Parts: sequence; C-alpha cells; structure tokens
Amino acid sequence: MTRLPLQALTFDLDDTLWDNREVMTRTEQGHYAWLDDALAEWLAERGEPSRGRFAERLPITAYQQRRQELAERHPLRRGDFTWIREHALASLLKEFGLPHEAAWHWAARAMEHFHDLRVQVSPYPEVEPMLSELGARYRLGSITNGNLAFDRLPLRRHFAVAIAAGEIHAPKPDPRPFLMALARLDTPPARAMHVGDSWKEDILPAIRLGMQAAWIAGDTPHGAPLPVGVHRLAHIRELPALLEKLGQQ
Ligand SMILES: [Mg+2]
Repeated sequence: MTRLPLQALTFDLDDTLWDNREVMTRTEQGHYAWLDDALAEWLAERGEPSRGRFAERLPITAYQQRRQELAERHPLRRGDFTWIREHALASLLKEFGLPHEAAWHWAARAMEHFHDLRVQVSPYPEVEPMLSELGARYRLGSITNGNLAFDRLPLRRHFAVAIAAGEIHAPKPDPRPFLMALARLDTPPARAMHVGDSWKEDILPAIRLGMQAAWIAGDTPHGAPLPVGVHRLAHIRELPALLEKLGQQ
C-alpha cells in the first residue's frame, strides 16, 4: 500500500522520551514527605497541641486509596491527576484536623512541590538532537496522559502542540486528544505518525484513526504480527532510521 508522505509526528512523553519510573517514585514519596515535614514545623510554630505526625496517622497508602476513591466518584476526572491529588490531599488534611482553608493551602503547597519533582525527568540523550532535526521536516505534537509541567522543559520548544489528555478529561486511548492534536497540526490522520510505548493507549487509538504508529516496545516479547502501519522499535533512538527506511526523510 502506498502511503502519503508524513507531515506530522505526535509523541507520547512518559516512557517514550524518558524513563519515567524513578521520577514517579521520587515524586510520589517526595512531595508527601515534604508536606509531612512542613506541616509539623508549621503546627509547632503555632504552638498547637500535638496531634501526631500527619504521615504517621495518614500514611501514603491512605493517600493512594483516597485518590482511587476520588477517581471512582468522579469518572470524568479520572485522568486529571493533578485535580485528584490536590483534592485527596485536602481531604486527608481535613481528616487530620486542619480547618478548610489551611487544608487547601497545604494541599496546594504540596502540589507545587509535586510539580517541581515531577518535571525533573531526564530525556534520553538522543532525544534533543533528534527532535531538533525532525522539527525541521515535520510538525511535531505531544499527547500525554501524564501531568508533568511540560511547559517548564526546554524540550517543549520543539512541539507546535502539546496536549495534556487527562486535563481535557479525555485520557488516551480516547481518540479526542489525537484528533485535537491533528487538527491543531493541520494534518489528516493518514499523514501522521504517533510514537508511544503503550499498545493500548498509544498504538491502538492511533491506528484506529488511520495514523501510522511507532511502538516503543522495549523488551516486550514478540507476539502476533503487527497490524499494517505499526512499526516496532526497541527505543526512541531508532525512530530516524525508521523514517528513513519508510522513505520519509
Ligand atoms: Mg508512555
């Protein structure tokens, strides 16, 4: 099948342009520990009678459970992780005995700290020069379900469009963030390729729309033959060679 030349590339971010696991672990634990410390200090300064340590009375597992409850109770918000986290924190802080206003103040402060940690990703070294080159040939977009403050990364400048799918209440595999990216990139699906690591959230929705897809499969075992239009890569660094092979460069 002859395909029209590609005009646009869209990229997943987490575990596609960088390894996200360590950052998430550090961020998850780091902002909760920060809140626990900051709160203890603030309460001591105010001379309040001790009510114990926040993270001892409400350990991180309680925070995780509260997030899950909120996601179930607010299905539209289930991918809006910043909203869920902030509401979970505020509710735990109230349970700890803080008045409404103080609870929301400390939830917001903890989320500031969350975002400071969450954005400390280390893109693979090949990514910066690769995007710089690809950006000269294609319109580039990003589509993430994650909630990192992408605008704060130097890498952001390569992308004409950046979609935070959870914040528009349509996390991938919902097709809407893909359609939104393509519309803003002024590109029909057949002339675009999506690049991502998740079969379910990146590859399936992209090919259902008629896009091509590059699946960053890592060491996922090989299974059935891939559908037409899907290309398997072990790592993002192999993308330029794939585009060259497809006659796209
Ligand atoms: Mg990913």
